[in-house]
Amino acid sequence: MSEVEKHGFQTEVKQLLGLLANSLYSNKEVFLRELISNASDAIDKLRFISLEKPEVLGNDPEFRIRVSADKEKKTLTISDNGLGMTRQEAIDHLGTIAKSGTAEFFKNLTGDQSKDSQLIGQFGVGFYSAFVVADKVTVISRSYKSNADEAVCWVSDGSGEFEVSQVTKADRGTEIILSLRDDETEFLEDWTLRSNISKYSDHISVPVQMLETVKPEGDDKKEGEEAEYTEWKQVNDAKALWTKNPKDVSDDEYKEFYKHISHDFQDPLTWTHNKVEGSQEYTSLMYIPQRAPFDLFNREQKHGLKLYVQRVFIMDDADQFMPGYLRFVKGVLDSNDLPLNVSREILQSNKISAQLKKACTKKALQMIAKLAKDDDKTKYETFWAQFGSVLKEGLVEDYENRDEIFGLLRFASTANTGSEQNVSLEDYISRMPEKQKNIYFITAESYQAAVASPYLETLKKKGVEVLLMWERVDEWVMNQVSEYKDKKFINVCSADLDLGELEDKAEKEEQEAKATENKDLLERIKNALAGEVSEVKVSGRLVDTPSCVISEGNAMLTAQMRRLLEASGQ
Ligand code: ADP
Ligand code: MG
Repeated sequence: MSEVEKHGFQTEVKQLLGLLANSLYSNKEVFLRELISNASDAIDKLRFISLEKPEVLGNDPEFRIRVSADKEKKTLTISDNGLGMTRQEAIDHLGTIAKSGTAEFFKNLTGDQSKDSQLIGQFGVGFYSAFVVADKVTVISRSYKSNADEAVCWVSDGSGEFEVSQVTKADRGTEIILSLRDDETEFLEDWTLRSNISKYSDHISVPVQMLETVKPEGDDKKEGEEAEYTEWKQVNDAKALWTKNPKDVSDDEYKEFYKHISHDFQDPLTWTHNKVEGSQEYTSLMYIPQRAPFDLFNREQKHGLKLYVQRVFIMDDADQFMPGYLRFVKGVLDSNDLPLNVSREILQSNKISAQLKKACTKKALQMIAKLAKDDDKTKYETFWAQFGSVLKEGLVEDYENRDEIFGLLRFASTANTGSEQNVSLEDYISRMPEKQKNIYFITAESYQAAVASPYLETLKKKGVEVLLMWERVDEWVMNQVSEYKDKKFINVCSADLDLGELEDKAEKEEQEAKATENKDLLERIKNALAGEVSEVKVSGRLVDTPSCVISEGNAMLTAQMRRLLEASGQ
């Protein structure tokens, strides 16, 4: 063994390790899912590399994951023959968290253990979950690129440091040895391991094996000379879930598979599984999470589907199949038509991938529409609260599906007593008085500012409902949509507020009369405010408020819009 080198964990890893025990208290067994999931990822990656370079598989071409327990040593070992890690990769991958936005996420933790531990679950704990049941974790790994005597041994007790040294390992791949805490020895029991493996790993396509005692053939027990022996036997189904007929897949299986691909600890909100044959052949399985990821608005964050071609894993986060406004959708796409050697560059300009994107987008929108119709209203409320403001981006990004997206929107409204966003455009239209031809809305900085706006006064008096918006994206989006089902969107803040037939002739005449009457006054106010305002008018729009400032037409930048542009650096 070579010299032992000590390293400290990245600060965020230390914080994560500190919170783990708390966050996984009630479902410790997830460590097994995480480690098997990593092993399966490592195998998928090597399988992909071997498409072009079959020689990397050498004399070990049959992929498998093995789980074994040693009751005397109280160790549990998970090993794989995937791509393995070099010394540097082990230091990088097992000592830091590579996700972008990680530091920011950790900065926002409150310091309240129980609250933070819930957030951590959402962040995904991965490899580090091993420390929930183990007081020492040893990783022995040999990269497919390395020789037997260039393997790495990584050891840590999870308290802030880890050690690495060079060791010898006969075969390619990774072995993770958990020295279990005294009160976690149930994970040495054959039955516990088997039931957890089939629960968590039936749907991954790699065989997970455990040792099984084999009794010698024949019933002649009297002789019984031949000793029993053990053999590696497959424990899981090892059938990729999306390849099954949807009729044969249970809800629990769908949920487990979601956790495998998403690194989420919660169940998904809903999913859609489609097998398509004909001119295009593909299978898609897409999910909507219950909660938005912490980095939903971080533009660098990876998103997209896990891409397979003819059941061979190709890449994670293939964002070529999902528009940006659906970046919260997780899932798998398995195409029969794309070439196996497809790359991100090819996907960008490929006709097939453009068709697949179109199809996946439609399916995802249908899944959301179905959720909106669900008897359990709380589901769509959850969806809307988490992802509504992202979905709105679609109105600008995806012209083709604009009407579908309009149908999914939910607004706060003057027809409600509170700030809940549950009014659809259909609701709004169905309540419109006969004379009303337009859809009225207001954008403001907050719900409070919207609902208390003096701009609403006239409309309130006339019994016209107004949609209330105050999210960051609203103003930008509403500036770019003009109508829905032949009804114009009208911002009630605009100077030339068009009330159409709602306008009262007598009122208008009165207003004009007042303007002539007060011409001098208006002139004086205008002079007093010279440079600040361009015009001072008598308004028929105010009921309780004496005056208000408005912008010209719809096109002017409002205060909020200006702030938004400044924030984005323009
Ligand atoms: P994630 O799986 O989300 O990337 P993890 O914390 O589970 O995060 O794993 C961290 C990284 O460690 C992985 O991305 C991978 O690079 C490496 N890793 C973990 N387990 C293995 C393994 N069995 N074989 C090869 N690399 C591994
Ligand atoms: Mg992982």
